[in-house]
Amino acid sequence: MTRRTALTPSPQPIRQPFLSRDRKGVGQPRPQAITSSCLLLVCLATFASAAPKALLFGKLWDGAGKVTNNAIVVVDGGRITQVSTSKSGIPRNAEWIDLRRFSALPGLIDAHTHITYYWEPKLGKTPLSQKIHPAAKVHLAAENARLTLSSGVTTIRNLHAAADTDIAVRDLIDHGFFPGPRLFTAGQGLSAKTPADMEALVKQRIKAGHPWIKIFASKGGFDSVDTEQTVPFEAMQAAVEAAHAVGHKVAIHSYGPSGVRDAARAGADSIEHGIDIDDETLRLMAQRKIYWVPTIDHNRYYMDARHEYGFTDEAMANLRQYVEKNLETARRAVKAGVKLVMGSDAVYTMFGQNTRELEWFVKAGLTPEEALHTATTNAAAMLGVPEQLGRIAPGTFADIIAVEGEPWKDIQAVTERVRWVMKDGEVVFRR
Ligand SMILES: [Zn+2]
Repeated sequence: MTRRTALTPSPQPIRQPFLSRDRKGVGQPRPQAITSSCLLLVCLATFASAAPKALLFGKLWDGAGKVTNNAIVVVDGGRITQVSTSKSGIPRNAEWIDLRRFSALPGLIDAHTHITYYWEPKLGKTPLSQKIHPAAKVHLAAENARLTLSSGVTTIRNLHAAADTDIAVRDLIDHGFFPGPRLFTAGQGLSAKTPADMEALVKQRIKAGHPWIKIFASKGGFDSVDTEQTVPFEAMQAAVEAAHAVGHKVAIHSYGPSGVRDAARAGADSIEHGIDIDDETLRLMAQRKIYWVPTIDHNRYYMDARHEYGFTDEAMANLRQYVEKNLETARRAVKAGVKLVMGSDAVYTMFGQNTRELEWFVKAGLTPEEALHTATTNAAAMLGVPEQLGRIAPGTFADIIAVEGEPWKDIQAVTERVRWVMKDGEVVFRR
């Protein structure tokens, strides 16, 4: 049975609804029940998983920027309780795990996914031609969730899913029905054109339990790189005000510069995609601490997967040009001091490649260590949980990954060589 220490994404202060809407029979057994009613072997297994774990790493990057050699991390009850280099103070019943060949990093955060987009070739020749019931999508998302963990990502922000299927996926993961990352959800993205309509939809999403609001403020997606703005500034502003009034956050999608400019002026918490962003808007984003999730790598993925989607030569040329402009804009954003956050925009067969955006960030001028911050501390701050995620320190959630090499010097150590993943104190992946 799984332990329910899932960090439930929500406005400050963090709610933990899984502790209150407990499902009978699921959760940690009480010790008395264990000793009186179970067979010896079952007891041992239960106690083994309940015991604290002491993890030994050759090196550890803690998210705050410190690298420690021969680090020991103690994990108990889904939380990190101790980080040190000496064995003193480590619980005697701790289970030791030797990862001295590897470097530890905080579990990574992918700030832009579409976890319910799964391609089942039996149901459609291409990902976009298949017909799948929303309930089936929830089931199939388990495979995307597993692949996401294998890339070292232990938290995702999911921006757009129909019929609240993202909440269903989140709850099944949190209740231990299948392994997967923590989910910060947004439900279906909004594209209303009037302030009143937008406000009504924001309230619906919040009532459904989504911590984030996603707005589609421009065209653009898949093989289309159309930058035309579709939501006016006033509607964006109404959405941001309605969400912020009750402590919720807003992510605005815009492929083109005018939508990004209006999103920044409207006070979005994050802006997704974007090219040709003018310098004044970049300055405003830096000044207002609006996070930019450029998702450069998702068009690289579409180009690599062109045969699955059946993209035309013309679409390929457009995608290539968009990647170039996306990267050029990221270079200027870095110089302007805009905080970048790693978002893959993973859909269908992209899961498992969630972190390749980091290589683009290094090309855009970040050091490998700064790139790591975009998937740890920057992302945790954007989500409003800087004390809980994105760092390896006492009190944070026990989301830790082990990679071969030193990713703070060589980013490919994390994009290509993840060897072990722990989420919530449980080992969820080994390679
Ligand atoms: Zn997206």
